[in-house]
Amino acid sequence: MKKPIIGILANRLIIEDGMFPGMERVYVSDDYVKAVLKAGGIPILIPVNKEKEIVQAQINAVDGVLLTGGYDVNPLLYGEEPSQKLGFTYGDVDDFDILVISAANSFNKPMFGICKGLQILNVYFGGTLYQDISEAEGAYIKHTQSSRKQEAGHSTFFKEGSILYEIFGESTLTNSFHHQSIKELAPGFKVTASAKDNIIEGIEKEEGNFVVAVQWHPEMMHETDLSMVKLFERFIDECRNKR
Ligand code: MN
Repeated sequence: MKKPIIGILANRLIIEDGMFPGMERVYVSDDYVKAVLKAGGIPILIPVNKEKEIVQAQINAVDGVLLTGGYDVNPLLYGEEPSQKLGFTYGDVDDFDILVISAANSFNKPMFGICKGLQILNVYFGGTLYQDISEAEGAYIKHTQSSRKQEAGHSTFFKEGSILYEIFGESTLTNSFHHQSIKELAPGFKVTASAKDNIIEGIEKEEGNFVVAVQWHPEMMHETDLSMVKLFERFIDECRNKR
C-alpha cells in the first residue's frame, strides 16, 4: 500500500536569547512527525511563506495537509478587536495558514486541524473564536491543564454519526492545552466533539473534501493512547484515497 505524503505546516519559533537573539527558526513539535509516521504517512514540513503561487505549489505536492498548533489567531481576521487576554499573534503565520487552507480546499485535499489548526479553519470558513475561554458563558473546566502532555486533561464527548464518533465512541479522555476556543461555528461545519462545559473540541466539514479538526493534541498522546493513532490513520487513509 502506497504511503501518502502529509504536509505538516511548520511554525516560526522566535529565539529570545543565546547566540542569535531575534533569530526565527522553522519548526514543528516532533510529536506531529512521529504520529504521522506511526499512522503510515510520509511527513514533509511546509515552511511559512507569503507567496500564493509558492503555497499552491507546496500544497499541490502533498496528498493531505496537517494544520498544527501555534500562536493565537489575530481577532481582526474575524472582525473583532483584541480583548485583554489575547495571547501572542503572528500575522505572517496566520496569512500563510489562510493561503494553505484556500489552496488545499480548491485542490480538494484532505485537511486535519489540531488546536490552532481547528481555530484557523473555523475562522477561514467564516466562524469566530473566544479570545480567551473565560469569555465563554458557562465554561468552568480547566482547558490549559497542569500535567504532562500525554495525560488526560478532561473528558470529551462525541456526536453520533460523525467521523470522530466512529473512532472514539461516545466519549474519551483528551489532553487540553488551549486558552481559546470556537465561539460561532463556521457555516458548513458541524460540532462533533465537546467538553462537559460545552467548549467545542472537534468539528467536521459537512460536504466536499475531508476536513476534520480537534481542539486537543492527539499527536502528544500517540505513544499512550492507540485511539489517537487511529485518528491519524483515518486522516491518512483519506489522503491515500485521494492520490
Ligand atoms: Mn479542552
